[in-house]
Amino acid sequence: MSSIRKDLVFTFGDRHDGVIGIPGLTIDGNVIEISYFFGDAKPKNIVVISSQAGCPMSCAFCELGSEKFARNLTKEEIRDQALLMLAEAGLHGFTVDNTPHKVTVANTGEPMLNTALVDGLELIAAAVPVSFKVSTILPATKIATETLARLADFAARHSQPVQLQISLISTSERERQEMSGARLSDFHAVRKAAELWRNKNPNGRKVNASLILTSDMKSDVDQVFAILPPELIRFRFREYVPTLHGKSHGLRMISSPQLADIKKRFEDRGYDVGDWASPSPIEWRFGLAGNVIRRMYLDMLSRAR
Ligand code: SF4
Repeated sequence: MSSIRKDLVFTFGDRHDGVIGIPGLTIDGNVIEISYFFGDAKPKNIVVISSQAGCPMSCAFCELGSEKFARNLTKEEIRDQALLMLAEAGLHGFTVDNTPHKVTVANTGEPMLNTALVDGLELIAAAVPVSFKVSTILPATKIATETLARLADFAARHSQPVQLQISLISTSERERQEMSGARLSDFHAVRKAAELWRNKNPNGRKVNASLILTSDMKSDVDQVFAILPPELIRFRFREYVPTLHGKSHGLRMISSPQLADIKKRFEDRGYDVGDWASPSPIEWRFGLAGNVIRRMYLDMLSRAR
């Protein structure tokens, strides 16, 4: 029996640009987010799963807002989210046999704080042939350091690519720290993580670093070039999609000329720059940042009561 169940499925868009969202329900009543992205512009269909019920990090830009942390998800709950969503995708004609798939851990929770993360990924890998991505804000804790080392070992032995994405948030250390409610790794620790990743996976992908691209957040290549150079890090440029919680913290959308200028400055210093991470039209239209589908579900329930 699955450890995660559903009682509502959201579908947005069409085959050319679409999203499926499932608020996943744990046996003990927590709600987590599971989502699925597909369309003509995507080289792989992407299952996005959660690692925790709630999150202890309280990031200013996250739709979870100040919701309390409940617990880490078990390895079976990590696996069952992916299988539940793949079964749903099958109803739309997408299977791992006819379409390449990636499982990304990026919805509810901070994956590096869950000691069951790698065991959960192992269970998924044993069930379905997929690549993986894990997105972390990289908390400054011993558990996060240990989980990252285990993940790097998993990446070295998994037959398909495993990507690590570190949400840098800002190129300013001070701004990065201020956006989180808990202590984050500084840029020296981010560099050490990227070096560990490269040493364990010399033929794998470089670590992605992502920035929250708003109109005011620092995205200055000169602040990171020396410590996070292009031979170690690939910067991922995805515009900030407004969320209610982000708006209440004064985050505002970036303009197209401002974004183009930032990308050019990074490109001129030798970083790989592309549009692969930009939100699709359907993601813009419905503001589909992480945990927004979960919030839609909870809003529907509270209106119905
Ligand atoms: S962005 Fe990620 S780490 Fe930050 S509060 Fe949201 S789920 Fe947690």
